[in-house]
Amino acid sequence: MNKLYFLGIGSGYHKSEKNTSAYIKNNDTLLLIDCGETVFKKVLEKDLVNDVKDIYLLITHMHSDHIGSLGGFVGFCYWKYKIKTMICFKDKEKIKNYLELLGLKEGESFDICDDTIRRIDSLKLEFSASKTKHVDTMNSYSYNISFDDGNDIFYSGDTFETNFNVIPYLELGNIIYHDACLNDSEENVHTSLRVLSEVIPRRYRNQVYCMHIDGENFIEEARKLGFNIAELI
Ligand SMILES: [Zn+2]
Ligand SMILES: [Zn+2]
Repeated sequence: MNKLYFLGIGSGYHKSEKNTSAYIKNNDTLLLIDCGETVFKKVLEKDLVNDVKDIYLLITHMHSDHIGSLGGFVGFCYWKYKIKTMICFKDKEKIKNYLELLGLKEGESFDICDDTIRRIDSLKLEFSASKTKHVDTMNSYSYNISFDDGNDIFYSGDTFETNFNVIPYLELGNIIYHDACLNDSEENVHTSLRVLSEVIPRRYRNQVYCMHIDGENFIEEARKLGFNIAELI
């Protein structure tokens, strides 16, 4: 089974859990998903860039808990390891302007890929971005990561609606990492456990890993419903 390793599983304002971010590291290649406020510090602690030649960074959207330490990360990879980060994000101009305001230059410390589908040979995978529903002020994307061995992973990003038909996907044995929270208010921009439970029948919930969690007792509540929790490594 393919899986993601997590540097944090918390929502933006969680008191103790770090910002949600996941990675795969293999064959001199690091694939990181999102780089929120607490992420670069975790990358340093884990020495994650050591032994790496290529870095791909998938961005789901531009909220601070998803790009808050991006400037530090990109600068560090370039100045310390001379690695140019390949940033994958559909809203190319926005991320370019943001990084240029921080003194970083496209073509020097980073490149941006806005392809809908892209293959990474060294990781034997292909990923694709699809727009999802989160807030009105910016676009948000989820990613499907399709591995050559046939076991795929869906990463929802922040969303209040699952943007594809999950049942056939789960029937094939694939796994889903999904935004999930206890907050079930009307104006919620994330997916509450109640909503997630309506979308995913109990028999498939062990293939669904909650992330971007809120609340002190989230883990207990999610497990009661049969969901898994994204694993911190
Ligand atoms: Zn978030
Ligand atoms: Zn967000």
